[in-house]
Amino acid sequence: MRVRVVGAGVVGLTSALRLAEAGHRVEVVAAELGEGTTSSVAAALWYPYRATPTAQVSRWLTTSYAVLDALAGDPSTGVRLRSGREFFREPVPDPWWRSTVPSLGRITGDQLPAGYLDGYQLTVPVVDMALHLGWLAARLRKTGIDIRARRLADLPAALAGVDAAVNCTGLGARELAGDGELSPVRGQVIVVEQFGLSEWLLDQNDPERLTYVVPRGETVILGGTSEEGDADREVRPATAEAILARCAALVPGAAGARIVSHRVGLRPARPAVRLETELLADGPVVHCYGHGGAGVTLAYGCAEEVVQLVSQLN
Ligand SMILES: Cc1cc2nc3c(=O)[nH]c(=O)nc-3n(C[C@H](O)[C@H](O)[C@H](O)COP(=O)(O)OP(=O)(O)OC[C@H]3O[C@@H](n4cnc5c(N)ncnc54)[C@H](O)[C@@H]3O)c2cc1C
Repeated sequence: MRVRVVGAGVVGLTSALRLAEAGHRVEVVAAELGEGTTSSVAAALWYPYRATPTAQVSRWLTTSYAVLDALAGDPSTGVRLRSGREFFREPVPDPWWRSTVPSLGRITGDQLPAGYLDGYQLTVPVVDMALHLGWLAARLRKTGIDIRARRLADLPAALAGVDAAVNCTGLGARELAGDGELSPVRGQVIVVEQFGLSEWLLDQNDPERLTYVVPRGETVILGGTSEEGDADREVRPATAEAILARCAALVPGAAGARIVSHRVGLRPARPAVRLETELLADGPVVHCYGHGGAGVTLAYGCAEEVVQLVSQLN
């Protein structure tokens, strides 16, 4: 089939790749590419943050973990497996996604920093999104797939001249598909130069003011925020200062690290990820958006189901 994928974030590019591998004739059209996408702002830790419904998410994150685990053998993908720790101010049970991460262990007693009562230690994929989006785009172009910069006004435009469209527009689906269930959850981060850190650390005890320190190859991401309904893409200096102070409390080396850039992204939050086919008068659209704070964690799993839905259209 001739399939147009709309969106060049991690969800669009992984879907396009799997569709091409399944033998479809694919093209990608997106308003923003690379650094312009929300995906490029992600930390990006494999971690199921703010994504539902649990049954499907559980399937998608397990597939994605396996794919990212396999990609971690190739440095050009930007994926690495990294050990890290999450700290809690109250005792907590094992996470619901425990079975996907066999390495998960508990941190207790004097292994915990002051003020914390419980902790997890686990090894998960960490993705350098600048590298990974570039790697995905290069793989697509190598297979002869066009990636074009163009904003589409509506779904009929997405279907013009093709047999099916796949809508991977993230928060953009509010306008493109008229979806009133999507809302932005603002996230601000600081990118600093690597300062010799190899493990990631996470504290999400305060739901609006998350604290995470995530090392990549050349840089470390210091985060962050999770601001419901806030669509402001401007960097807020006071927020950056507060992020730096929280991160330095967890990892003192973060305090003196050289700042490379400040970034803001809007997570596409939805009560449930939308992964389904809609039959319009102009043709079928497979929707795949609303991945909240877990698009990187779910993308490869969702991409496989996008292929199944497109194949059922034949
Ligand atoms: C600060 C921050 C930290 C995060 N950390 C993590 C993490 O650690 N782990 C994790 O798994 N996730 C994380 N996320 C969440 C993750 O970034 C998102 O879930 C993911 O990027 C969503 O991907 P997407 O491809 O659906 O959307 P996007 O990356 O937003 O891509 C949407 C694409 O659609 C295009 N588009 C939109 N409207 C139109 C239109 N009308 N016409 C044409 N093209 C259109 C856009 O230009 C873009 O190319 C984080 C997010 C933020 C902001």
